[in-house]
Amino acid sequence: MLIILLGPPGAGKGTQAERIVIKYQLAYISTGDILRGAVREQTNLGRKAKQYMDQGQLVPDELVVAIVKDRLADPDCAEGALLDGFPRTVVQADFLEKALPEIGIKIGKVLSIEVAEEELIERLTGRRVCSECGANFHLKFKPPKVRNVCDLCGGDLYQRDDDTLETVKERLEVYKKQTEPLIAFYEEKGILSPIDGNQDIEAVNDQINIILEKI
Ligand code: ADP
Ligand code: AMP
Repeated sequence: MLIILLGPPGAGKGTQAERIVIKYQLAYISTGDILRGAVREQTNLGRKAKQYMDQGQLVPDELVVAIVKDRLADPDCAEGALLDGFPRTVVQADFLEKALPEIGIKIGKVLSIEVAEEELIERLTGRRVCSECGANFHLKFKPPKVRNVCDLCGGDLYQRDDDTLETVKERLEVYKKQTEPLIAFYEEKGILSPIDGNQDIEAVNDQINIILEKI
């Protein structure tokens, strides 16, 4: 079964994903993480994607769809997977609708995490990520025990290039235009569950667990 995490940048998708994949033993697919990996390794895909990511724009559908198609074919996805940050356009959602029957997986739930815009800006500009294990922190809301050091692996924390105020504002605009229509798309299919993301991390997680335990 597939679980999809939908929501604007900074809503807490990655933070909740860390918990969900452990509790429900799902494979994790974050298109953002895969693309950042490709940029770091300077692959062909990475070179193409970087120009869009740096500007807060979406990477073209055909590139992202190819990544997800490959990843869903991995053996660890056979039982189910958590999609974080995909789909982000109606074209991507249509691709999933067509691809899933072939792969033999269904979408169990789309969790739509909703958070007020001012809060999103504060979350994104204060986000820090571990350069070694990718764990997420926040200067104010989830500070590491030692400044700039990951609690989990001791790696250095860094600020993502696209978490500057200017790029954050662009990403929020892109979300409204290109991704928000997916809320209605999945609502119509009867598989959307809105989540109040304006709560602390544990309270959001509790709300998600109540929904996932019913599937
Ligand atoms: P997304 O994956 O949706 O872009 P993240 O999970 O990376 O968002 O969260 C963005 C930032 O906000 C991170 O620094 C994270 O530590 C912090 N954060 C996540 N959830 C909450 C929450 N419920 N309350 C406060 N801060 C949060
Ligand atoms: P994220 O880590 O989910 O915040 O994604 C970071 C950036 O990667 C986005 O701003 C986009 O440029 C790109 N990206 C991630 N997922 C997608 C997607 N599904 N479609 C297009 N671009 C994406």
